[in-house]
Amino acid sequence: MIYRAPLADIGFALRYGAGLPAAIAEGLFGDLTMDDVDAVLSEAGRFAAEVVAPLNRVGDTCGTPFKDGAVTTPPGWKQAYDGWRDGGWNGLAAPVEWGGQGLPQTLNMACLEMWNAAAMAFAVGPLLTIAAIDALHAHGSEALKRAYLKKLVSGEWTGSMQLTEPQAGSDVGALRTRAERAGDGSYRLKGQKIFITYGEHDLTDNIVHFVLARLPDAPPGTRGISLFLVPKFLLNADGSLGARNDIRAHSVEHKLGIHGSPTCTMILGDGDGAVGYVVGAENAGMACMFTMMNRARLAVGVQGVGVAERATQQALAYARERRQGRTAGMPATQSAAIIAHPDVRRMLLSMRALTAAARTICYATAIALDRSERSAGPAARKAAYDLASLLTPVAKAYATDIGIEVASLGVQVHGGMGFIEETGAAQFYRDARIAAIYEGTNGIQAIDLVTRKLALSGGAAVNAHLADLRAIVETVKANNDPTLGATAVRLEDAVECLARATAWMLGRPDQEADAALAGASPYLRLFGIATGGCLLAKQAVAALRLTDEAAPRVALARFFAENYAVQSAAIERTIIEGAPGLLGADAALS
Ligand SMILES: Cc1cc2nc3c(=O)[nH]c(=O)nc-3n(C[C@H](O)[C@H](O)[C@H](O)COP(=O)(O)OP(=O)(O)OC[C@H]3O[C@@H](n4cnc5c(N)ncnc54)[C@H](O)[C@@H]3O)c2cc1C
Repeated sequence: MIYRAPLADIGFALRYGAGLPAAIAEGLFGDLTMDDVDAVLSEAGRFAAEVVAPLNRVGDTCGTPFKDGAVTTPPGWKQAYDGWRDGGWNGLAAPVEWGGQGLPQTLNMACLEMWNAAAMAFAVGPLLTIAAIDALHAHGSEALKRAYLKKLVSGEWTGSMQLTEPQAGSDVGALRTRAERAGDGSYRLKGQKIFITYGEHDLTDNIVHFVLARLPDAPPGTRGISLFLVPKFLLNADGSLGARNDIRAHSVEHKLGIHGSPTCTMILGDGDGAVGYVVGAENAGMACMFTMMNRARLAVGVQGVGVAERATQQALAYARERRQGRTAGMPATQSAAIIAHPDVRRMLLSMRALTAAARTICYATAIALDRSERSAGPAARKAAYDLASLLTPVAKAYATDIGIEVASLGVQVHGGMGFIEETGAAQFYRDARIAAIYEGTNGIQAIDLVTRKLALSGGAAVNAHLADLRAIVETVKANNDPTLGATAVRLEDAVECLARATAWMLGRPDQEADAALAGASPYLRLFGIATGGCLLAKQAVAALRLTDEAAPRVALARFFAENYAVQSAAIERTIIEGAPGLLGADAALS
């Protein structure tokens, strides 16, 4: 099944959901114009559809064979990567001083959506390199930046991100990989890491690993973690590749999905220890890693959007062709395309609306990130930073949950054929599953939202967001277009449910922390529904005012408000009233 880059939808979400033109008009991106943005999107869409998308099934079926410590990527993978790198896509939003193009992260995320829709297993590698660039740029010494940044930005080398160990998954503070000071400013690392994405591969000559480890005198827990840059090949004084470092892949996992992406167990220090260089200060590794993880978390949310979009396109095409049953009044000799059946329409519209909601949340997060780095004046930057921080766990978890739900609906639309691998619908479902797990499980995102992000600036960040949502509701009300049906009133309810649930969360005393944790995942869901619904309605109102193609955007916003926003009251009740029944239910789990 071919992939068609949804340029109109992406462009619309960037313009009227994220407000990219306003940021451009403020001069945040130099002389960039929306015409430039459209041109970049169009070229990315072409490359994704023509070069990357045909590899999706190849990656799924061939996987990444592992022999004698080496990983072979699927046929065609390297050529596609070379073309992608030569196209400058890796450094799209990277700093100009290091060879990047300095374009908005928002645009980068829109392109990432297309790479991931084309082949998630392909895109997850660059996704990590892009995040590694941010961490090195923000925290690395000048010497480290000079040695590694240009080649990471160009994509000549890739990055890996190494946190997880057998006993340290969600609890990163439990990691045991050791780093000893070597006396010459470098370190020697010993330990084992598991589940490392693109920890070994044959796409590039060198791999730059970003490894979390603990110094011998480090304090316990996350306060005692340092981040180290550990290259696969050490560099000679002139920057050329030197000796092989003491880090290697031990094996590659067999997985449910993203078969084209090698997931490696890594061994550091078979011999004297892997040579590493500290990024940032000793014991300040978590702060550095958070720079990397926050970018990566948003990008993983975008993976959910990409796979949902691809699944939707395929399901729509199938539903237009597959004929079963009849609609009212049809002669017995005829059969209808299944898209005519209301239940199938419900599935397809759900796929479309959920995908659009997840997309607009991710882009809104990305523009907040851009504003946090480029707005004039510290106050504007701080407000944008807080908003980006608040929205990041929502973008990650809501969008990846949507990826799974939409891909599952895609299987359902195909009926039995959806369960048969050759249609590809099953692969989207299998691939989508991991995004809710890695980069911090969605449960951990929800906990991050309620325990850290709601409290940002004393609750000012979330209250500012609620004010933005209320303003959108007022705009929809004022618009009063009958084609929007009950959109305004449903969204108003949803936002007030979120406001009450937020006040409840913020009001939990320490001794009721478990009650807040019990409601964390439903709270994040409610946050996603209210935010996504409002941003879709904002786009619908803009469409009514600005274009003659309003009908599809209005239909989606209305469908979402009338079918998903209405769930808010029930979710609010789950959050506020559900804890006692959950925390007191030991008997049911014995
Ligand atoms: C294909 C793949 C690729 C990956 N790539 C990388 C990579 O490149 N680099 C890397 O470092 N790691 C990577 N990972 C690891 C991934 O980030 C972890 O699997 C993930 O963070 C979860 O950790 P865990 O598997 O140990 O699960 P656990 O931490 O054991 O969690 C199990 C369950 O318990 C829940 N849970 C755990 N602790 C809490 C808590 N305190 N409160 C509430 N719920 C909790 C979780 O939400 C989850 O539902 C990858 C994993 C996979 C499968």
